[in-house]
Amino acid sequence: MPLYIVATPIGNLEDITWRALRILKEADLILSEDTRVTQKILQHYEIKVPLLSYHHHSGITKVNHIIELLKEAKKIALVSDAGTPGISDPGGELVHQVLAAIPDIQIEAIPGPSAVAAALSISGMPTDKFLFLGFPPHKKGRQTFLAKIKASEYPVVVYESKHRIIKFLEELTTVINPEAELMVGRELTKMHETAYRGSVQKILAEIKADTNAQRGEFVVIIKNKK
Ligand code: SAM
Repeated sequence: MPLYIVATPIGNLEDITWRALRILKEADLILSEDTRVTQKILQHYEIKVPLLSYHHHSGITKVNHIIELLKEAKKIALVSDAGTPGISDPGGELVHQVLAAIPDIQIEAIPGPSAVAAALSISGMPTDKFLFLGFPPHKKGRQTFLAKIKASEYPVVVYESKHRIIKFLEELTTVINPEAELMVGRELTKMHETAYRGSVQKILAEIKADTNAQRGEFVVIIKNKK
């Protein structure tokens, strides 16, 4: 049996494909980064399949257990907290481990939403080429990360949390050309979805001035001025 890598909504529960729902319904087991989040989707679509948690702190014992289940031909679907498993979340590591243990296993993508694609699609920036850097490192490597943004000839996509968005934008002001064009997508597909557009100074001022704007999840796209 293949291992299915199933994309789930990044907020709006309607953003799930027919195929994803079928695969989840037919699975023997769903590996879930956060079982409470996955449970909401399963309840909404009346899917009753056992969940097993798989997250950043899952150790080798859990991975070996999953590998054994796959060897027993169990039909297993992996979902993450939101979006496409493996994009800046623990899914990629599981796929890596499973391939190392069962090299001829079939791993099937059940594509769907991803915050990076959603943000790019509304950015209005040239998206034929872009650089995705994921989350900024908290300490070590942060300056290198910022330097990569400054040096990129393509729009750069960064993920950031509500706890660090202001700090990150503040740091950007000290690094990038003030004329660089940004889009910050907040709470995409959700009730409080907002797209901030303009210079980093303008967006920083807007977010700082509004405590509601400091809640939720963020994608930042930076397009340097040539
Ligand atoms: N695998 C996911 C994907 O395909 O996009 C990303 C997982 S990563 C752990 C979570 C980050 O994605 C958040 O901190 C945020 O930067 C971004 N994100 C997820 N959902 C979002 C949303 N609805 N609006 C804006 N950003 C979002």
